[in-house]
Amino acid sequence: MTIAEKKVVDFHYTLTSEAGVELDSSREREPMSYLHGAGNIIPGLEKAMEGRAEGDQFEIQVQPDEAYGARNPGNVQRIPLKRLGKVPRPRPGQVLGLQTQQGPVQVTVLKVGRFNIDVDANHPLAGQVLNFAVEIVKIRDATEEELSHGHAHGPGGHQHG
Ligand code: ZN
Repeated sequence: MTIAEKKVVDFHYTLTSEAGVELDSSREREPMSYLHGAGNIIPGLEKAMEGRAEGDQFEIQVQPDEAYGARNPGNVQRIPLKRLGKVPRPRPGQVLGLQTQQGPVQVTVLKVGRFNIDVDANHPLAGQVLNFAVEIVKIRDATEEELSHGHAHGPGGHQHG
């Protein structure tokens, strides 16, 4: 069996930055599960999965336009500290959840001033070239339920509460 539409794939990955710094890895966890062809993983990685078989190992480099997109400088904003409510004073590098009119948004704190903070709402990996080392662990047919939901179920996949 090889990877194609309507297959659920379990895989291990190690993600490193262009500079070779490890950013994330599934090696200490369950393999990640996704439904192929459903846009569950970044487009560059999904494309590279096509046609692979169980046990395959490969490395790919993904450009930002096939990963988390370009960094948008317009997503950096200055907001009043008091908008955060009664929370401990944030620190640069910290990730905060902000309530906005568009719903909750995760932002990274850039700078903390006396009355304002500068936050970046870009995805932390936006604008980055990403290197993936991948091992295909298992391939199976998706269930009807998974196809109707558009994602994989079970360990490493979507957990319904
Ligand atoms: Zn589901």
